[in-house]
Amino acid sequence: MPPRYAEVALPVPLRSLFTYSIPARLDSEDLIGRRALVPFRNRKMIGVIAAFAENPLELERVKEISELLDPIPALTPNLLELGKWISRYYIAPIGESLNALLPPQPDLRQEREYKLTETGAEYLEELVARGPAGEKEVAALAVLDGAKAAGKQFTSARTRKISGGEAAADRLVRAGRLTWSDVLLRRKFRTQKIVAWKNAGRSSAAALDEKSARVREALIESGGPLQLPLLLERARVTKRVIEKLETAGHVVTWEEPLIPEDDPWESDYVPPNNILNAEQSAALSEIRDWLDAGKFQAGLLHGVTGSGKTEVYLSAIEAALAKGKSALVLVPEIALTLWMGRHVRARFGPRVAVLHSALPDQERAREWWRVRRGDARIVVGTRSAVFAPLQNLGLILVDEEQETAYKQEDIPRYHGRDTAIYRARLEGAVAVLGSATPSLESYQNARSGKYKLLELKTRVENRPLAKVTVVDLREDFRTHHKAAPVSEALRRAIAARLEAGTQAMVLINRRGYSWFLLCRSCGAYLQCRNCSIGLTFHKSRQRLECHYCGFAMRVPKACPKCAKEYLYFVGEGAERIEEYLRDQFPKARIARLDRDTVRTKQQFQKVLGAFAKGEIDVLVGTQMVAKGHDFERVTLVGVVAADLALGRPDFRAAEKTFQLLTQVAGRAGRGRLPGEVLVETYYPEHYAIELAAKQDYIGFFEKEAHFRRMLHYPPYTALASILIRDKKIEHAIQWSRALEAVLKPFDSLGMKVLGPAAAPLSRLRQEFRFQFLLKTPKRAILGQALAACIKYCEAQKIPETAVLVDVDPASLM
Ligand code: ADP
Ligand code: ZN
Repeated sequence: MPPRYAEVALPVPLRSLFTYSIPARLDSEDLIGRRALVPFRNRKMIGVIAAFAENPLELERVKEISELLDPIPALTPNLLELGKWISRYYIAPIGESLNALLPPQPDLRQEREYKLTETGAEYLEELVARGPAGEKEVAALAVLDGAKAAGKQFTSARTRKISGGEAAADRLVRAGRLTWSDVLLRRKFRTQKIVAWKNAGRSSAAALDEKSARVREALIESGGPLQLPLLLERARVTKRVIEKLETAGHVVTWEEPLIPEDDPWESDYVPPNNILNAEQSAALSEIRDWLDAGKFQAGLLHGVTGSGKTEVYLSAIEAALAKGKSALVLVPEIALTLWMGRHVRARFGPRVAVLHSALPDQERAREWWRVRRGDARIVVGTRSAVFAPLQNLGLILVDEEQETAYKQEDIPRYHGRDTAIYRARLEGAVAVLGSATPSLESYQNARSGKYKLLELKTRVENRPLAKVTVVDLREDFRTHHKAAPVSEALRRAIAARLEAGTQAMVLINRRGYSWFLLCRSCGAYLQCRNCSIGLTFHKSRQRLECHYCGFAMRVPKACPKCAKEYLYFVGEGAERIEEYLRDQFPKARIARLDRDTVRTKQQFQKVLGAFAKGEIDVLVGTQMVAKGHDFERVTLVGVVAADLALGRPDFRAAEKTFQLLTQVAGRAGRGRLPGEVLVETYYPEHYAIELAAKQDYIGFFEKEAHFRRMLHYPPYTALASILIRDKKIEHAIQWSRALEAVLKPFDSLGMKVLGPAAAPLSRLRQEFRFQFLLKTPKRAILGQALAACIKYCEAQKIPETAVLVDVDPASLM
């Protein structure tokens, strides 16, 4: 008997699966991993079938699955397993974890449907009788009229088209004149028909006539489904043949959105045709051996900046493809998908799909299904692409593996790199993490033998590493007595580049004009009204802004605390640096690249493109400019306020500073011109700065590892944080106290519990925040403790949003 019940995961913050019955009309093969539309409370939701269920206890309460959404399961067994692991490891609700793996559903849209009540009908008559008075009543009349028109759905999509319609509908609902419910609407797209052979292996070719056999052959040859027109062409048959095959149950067809192909990459891009040098070849041949072994293996590719890691990646992908496997390349940010995507596309053509969160839903859905169908065998993408539905996965590459951008800061709070390793394990694939400055975690894993270490110790063609000079700002001030936003040394170095006609980059990791506004009379500094953080001055917009919640206000004349007019801007941001340089070098072409000047991918590319073409002399930017890109003519990189991160209450502060400086140093002198880096700091003797200047990764690792061991931080202990937050401080305190009691018993099991203490950002978006840090060398204990907390919160009905669990947190802020 076919299974009659299914466990469905729904994207709700509840930690259980939901049981539904499977109606007989739904084909029962291939149900696991399928997306389904199910009734939930008083609406329809999209969930994924995670398992079959036993006969449920409360039979009469079980509802039916309404509809299956895709012709094939969206999630493969391995992906389903990966989603379950995410849920377990990161203590995230199963529904939300699996939801993170699913493709977007651009053709379904949730809207409110309004219905007229009796009092509403009366009110409508009244309005018509006496005529509406004022704009609000006019809008109300239009809305009521629409809702009255029988036979048609009247939805929020329609109220949005009426001027003042949405607000009017809200008022009418409150007055009991309208009721509403959620409905799912199907959006119409231009679609194309896709055809797939059913049960590819099982049905025999013998019983088929000649034309049908050609269809089967064409579909099998393509390795997956085909668009109808393409199939007709390849099999040399007419539509009728396909229709007959469908009726006979040999093929399935479905509609997919059709979007004109657009190529975001410059079509005239010609990839460099490099022959691997000895170090690159050695690394590649090891990776080949792992691929040949055909089982899980993790490797760390530690290669200095400019050592040609990309070339090794490309050759490794080629090796994986040659074995009939697929490959996945992860990069830490969207801007780098362009860069990496361009290289991979140039080498492998249309078999490449690019996946990242900034793609419009429709385009992302198309790419996703292209991958799922096996049309695309290589995926380049950001964090969430770790879930790309590639089958027969042979190789996962994680570029710049140390980047904290791989950590998702929403539920499920997974780490893309660690998830990649787990996925490779599930798939029996090879995972290679690449970096010039590996995270402490990964390098420790390489030391302990968990990962195999591959090294590229020299730059290609033995180009020298850039010369790094540390500028002691105390010294600079003593010598020049100038209170300029950049040191005299940097100013002169820029002048020299302008003279020589080469380019310079100035890196400053702060947006805005000044960091905050201080009252010299009472010492108060202007804080955000919603957050315990200083407001940043933005000169071009003439206002103070909170970089956390978006709060903004005019710059006050006087201090709000003491009413004196001694307000003073402290610290220099990117905007101020740019202004200063324009002032110093009026003839130079200067541009700024940060989130204030570029908002879109196109703007970003435009500025970088202009810089690459030499149309800009000096580029000022935040860390956006520090990564990945290759500029031949940059001979100077200046780092302003290099030590900014060191003051943060974050155990990764030194590591982040070291990484940033090394990455930046890697930007200079990548072409044939030698490069120089100037690093400005007030702490020239700090080991992170000293060792970054020497570009001594191993030295830094040893020193930092020593501190981490002593202070019980990762990678030498498992770490999790629990954040408790609420707008009412009493709640936050009460819940923290309660969780303290829950966590207490774990003390004797070898887990250190720190807190509850005020979180480093003790107030954010009007919420008060307290924090626990849990540390233990035994990961199992950590899992148990967190599970106990969650169980307690559920039993006590503490809202899910009030307690945030973060396993392996990237930052403790
Ligand atoms: P990394 O990512 O390690 O910092 P890239 O992969 O960006 O370095 O390579 C740096 C530069 O070296 C690129 O311009 C690339 O084309 C070039 N390159 C890579 N391999 C070779 C090689 N074997 N011979 C010459 N140039 C190479
Ligand atoms: Zn704020």
